[in-house]
Amino acid sequence: MACRLLVASRNVKKLNELRRILDEAGVAGIEIVGLDDVPPYAEAPETGATFAENALAKARDGAVATGLACVADDSGLEVDALNGMPGVLSARWSGGHGDDAANNALLLAQIADVPDERRGGRFVSTCALVVPGGEEIVVRGEWPGSIARTPVGDGGFGYDPLFIPAGGAVTAAQLTPAQKDAVSHRGRALAQLVPALAGLAG
Ligand code: IMP
Repeated sequence: MACRLLVASRNVKKLNELRRILDEAGVAGIEIVGLDDVPPYAEAPETGATFAENALAKARDGAVATGLACVADDSGLEVDALNGMPGVLSARWSGGHGDDAANNALLLAQIADVPDERRGGRFVSTCALVVPGGEEIVVRGEWPGSIARTPVGDGGFGYDPLFIPAGGAVTAAQLTPAQKDAVSHRGRALAQLVPALAGLAG
């Protein structure tokens, strides 16, 4: 019988990304379910000081509430010229939650005078796996790059139109979903969970 794994998200893209990664790694016997597939439970606000704290808190909540092994992630953009911010505040950098256009405009204004050679940064994804009564694992994936001077591209979400991956000339918003998945912070973090997930599948 397949082992059920809760991914603490309502984002179908995130669920499918983990399904694809497990498929490609040849891990069978795991049925991935999302928050819409389990009875609702109280979800704590993301108030941690680090990505790891937030991911671990979400994964623990999910495991306790459902009795299932649970994977949760927290992610954001670290900008060197802002000492690593927006960081854990990425989704609400301009005040409201998830206002991508306002977040991007504020970030651009804040670093308007920063020269090209100091516009480096990285997307970060931290993923936690919590097994009820068992192990807790936290992994981190990074995608290095630099911050453009104007938004370019229609794909992706969040800060993608401002993020130029290292070694490239286009923004993350100009990549196809498959191109982004293959190199992104989230893909790199999730890939590190594969051995533990393979262990769950038995
Ligand atoms: P979450 O952890 O998926 O909720 O993402 C937190 C915030 O980080 C998002 O609202 C975006 O602003 C930013 N972010 C995380 N991953 C990405 C990405 O792949 N592209 C663009 N922005 C991202």
